[in-house]
Amino acid sequence: MRRNSLGGRLVLATLAFCLLFTVVVAALRTWSAWQNNVAAMSGELQLIAQVYQRTLSKSIWDMDRESLQAHLTSAANVASVGQVVVSLQSSNRAPEVFQRRREGWRPSTLAPVLHVKLDYEAFPGSREAVGEFSLYGDERVLWQRLRAEMVAIVATQVAQSLLLASLIMLMFSRLVTVHVRRIAQHLSQLTPLNLDTKLTLERDRRRQDELSLLVSGVNQLQGNLSDYLERQQRDEKELIAHRDNLAALVRERTLELEKTNDRLESANAMLDGLARTDPLTGLANRRHFDETKEIEFRRAQRNGQPLSLLVCDIDEFKRYNDAYGHAKGDQCLRAVARAIESTCARAGELVSRIGGEEFAVLLPGTDAQTGTLLATQLLQAVAELGIAHRDSGTAPFITVSIGLAQFDAERMQSFDALFEQADTALYLAKSRGRNQVAVAEPQKSLDDKWS
Ligand code: GH3
Ligand code: MG
Ligand code: MG
Repeated sequence: MRRNSLGGRLVLATLAFCLLFTVVVAALRTWSAWQNNVAAMSGELQLIAQVYQRTLSKSIWDMDRESLQAHLTSAANVASVGQVVVSLQSSNRAPEVFQRRREGWRPSTLAPVLHVKLDYEAFPGSREAVGEFSLYGDERVLWQRLRAEMVAIVATQVAQSLLLASLIMLMFSRLVTVHVRRIAQHLSQLTPLNLDTKLTLERDRRRQDELSLLVSGVNQLQGNLSDYLERQQRDEKELIAHRDNLAALVRERTLELEKTNDRLESANAMLDGLARTDPLTGLANRRHFDETKEIEFRRAQRNGQPLSLLVCDIDEFKRYNDAYGHAKGDQCLRAVARAIESTCARAGELVSRIGGEEFAVLLPGTDAQTGTLLATQLLQAVAELGIAHRDSGTAPFITVSIGLAQFDAERMQSFDALFEQADTALYLAKSRGRNQVAVAEPQKSLDDKWS
């Protein structure tokens, strides 16, 4: 991009003004010089007239034509004179005219003309007119003089203009341009990192003008910017610290929450366990049994694997309670529970207390034959506990009766059917004299009976 210097424009403007001024001043001075030249020429003509008036009058009076001619030639040789004319006055003749003309002279309306009466005083008191002396100024001389003056006028005006423009250029450059460039350079090199570098100009510091106002304005702006950036950086740091604190706090709280969550989960698991455990015996309760029975039932249905169910009931337990008290009854329940549990402890087998003195054992993967074997072992285990029961009509110790049923995929659509068969078998065992195992006959299932 082409840069225009302010100083250059100022100089151009000054030159243009000076040129106009020169034209006007030169015109005025020329006009004035012309007037002066015309006045000077008139004066010269008057002086010539004064010089030659007497000698010419005498030559005419004396009729000395030679002398007249010589004087005329002498007068005509003066520089500013273009033509001299002497006309002799005569009362009875036409006036006689003598003239001398400079080479190339022409009559002019611009050059002055002087007419002087010539008279002669032959005797004191007898003054007599003898003729007229006319002096014509030479216009060419006027122009010549004017030209010389005009050259001087124009030369001085032009020199004056040029000097003035140079002076302004020099002063503007030294006082303004250099410093403005320095300010521009300083501003262009400014970054957030060097805002502390103050702007200074290489000049007298005591000088107070628009430039010093500009410098103090720039420095103040830098100061404000620097303060602002500092504040911003401080705020950013604080913000980062807050953010870090917050993150640490969030981590801390998250850990606490996780711990609480773990505790809650274990508490829930515990509650869940409690909710699914029989408090007296520690076996699975009815609810747990109900959940598991459905799962095992569907698995048996799906895989075609055998599933057996034992329902055990303590024989004549009411009498036991009556005879030994409820607390002893509870003890007995716990002992029987342990016995059943230790007999049926294979993985997947679920022993649960499903009623007062009634227990159920789910035997996934076990058919009626193996189930019967297990049930017999169970009878044995309870009997071996040897819990005395003096009021029992079955045995002098605590015994159980067991009903057994095996899942039959073709005939049973729900677990209830299996349960009913086991319950029926239990009823059978009771009716057959207790302390024994009864196996449900598949052909005689309730489903069959009802269908
Ligand atoms: P059966 O041989 O026909 O089963 O006769 P039973 O007396 O065992 O059966 P019944 O249903 O007539 O009586 C069950 C008794 O079990 C009644 C009740 O006092 C007792 N019982 C039920 N739950 C508990 C319990 O949690 N603790 C105690 N101590 N006894 C209970
Ligand atoms: Mg019962
Ligand atoms: Mg009973």
